[in-house]
Amino acid sequence: MKLKRRLLRTFKDRVLKPQLNRQDRWEKKVVDTPGATRGAEDSPVRFNIPRQAIETEGDHPPLPGFPGSAPQIISSIINIRKSVYDLERNPANGEKRIDAKTLDELRSFARSVGADEIGYAPVPQEWVFQDTAIRYTQAIVLTMEMDQARMDLAPSPDTAVMVHETYNQLGQVSNKIADWLRQRGYAAHAGHPLGGMALYPPMAQAAGLGWRGISGLVITPQFGPRVRLAAVFTEIENLPVYEGDEHAWVLDFCESCRRCIRDCPPDAFYDHPVQHENGLVTVLDNGKCFPYFLTYHGCSVCIKVCPFNQQDFYKIKASFLDSQVDRTPVSPTAGK
Ligand code: SF4
Ligand code: SF4
Repeated sequence: MKLKRRLLRTFKDRVLKPQLNRQDRWEKKVVDTPGATRGAEDSPVRFNIPRQAIETEGDHPPLPGFPGSAPQIISSIINIRKSVYDLERNPANGEKRIDAKTLDELRSFARSVGADEIGYAPVPQEWVFQDTAIRYTQAIVLTMEMDQARMDLAPSPDTAVMVHETYNQLGQVSNKIADWLRQRGYAAHAGHPLGGMALYPPMAQAAGLGWRGISGLVITPQFGPRVRLAAVFTEIENLPVYEGDEHAWVLDFCESCRRCIRDCPPDAFYDHPVQHENGLVTVLDNGKCFPYFLTYHGCSVCIKVCPFNQQDFYKIKASFLDSQVDRTPVSPTAGK
């Protein structure tokens, strides 16, 4: 026990803290870059999980899954650094247009290196966190599946390690896509899924990759909420951005479900999400979620219990929409 405590303390003080301080300096380079889009005054404040974890008192692990997750955490930090330092390799006057063939190749490349889905969305300033910045405002949004068998063990150390493996792999994918774009004359800024500089869930929704459920998680047709999100920011002006809302029914389904709210161990979800003037929504009280999250291996119960994690998205959709038709009030004069 004493040895474990010493290991936790050493990792926190000698590895995580100095790395996060360096990360703050790297990220400031982006904030100070002329032309970068900085968070607005009413943008959300970033909840930086590693930073919050080391600043929270107690003998909890420095991050969920520790020590098994330590190699993944270190690799993620290296890739966050790469995402910032590689900005110097961007062409000064990058290409601003992309043709259909290159776009097809981009999608194939993203899939070949491990992304599951890819979509496109412009990023308004309000989605960029306060005191951070993104270099470009056209996002290539990425999803990566988290392993179902290990998610179904949540909360468990194995689940937490798997989540960090996904963060790390997706961070590498984001850097690879940014490199691929640079090789073809485009400027790019890879956004890492751990400690991103802008809100990924509204980006993924805007890109048509799913819809935000009551849990705030993006429910995707392929994997429900069991995905991690990342983005590559570019200045390509003609990305085929999505403009529909075909998944909007998910939120209506959520109203009839509310399982994540009921099953959240520390009761962290608000009964009624807080609506902000800038259109953003806060669904849970971090002060309740985070201590539990840290103590119980990154929790993830809200992902595990969601019906979309267990059942086919389109079967749920068909049965839900049928049930809504059945409930449509019939006019007393119908059929006369
Ligand atoms: S991660 Fe756990 S504690 Fe946090 S909201 Fe989800 S179920 Fe609740
Ligand atoms: S558990 Fe139910 S209410 Fe929560 S996000 Fe999933 S479908 Fe929506």
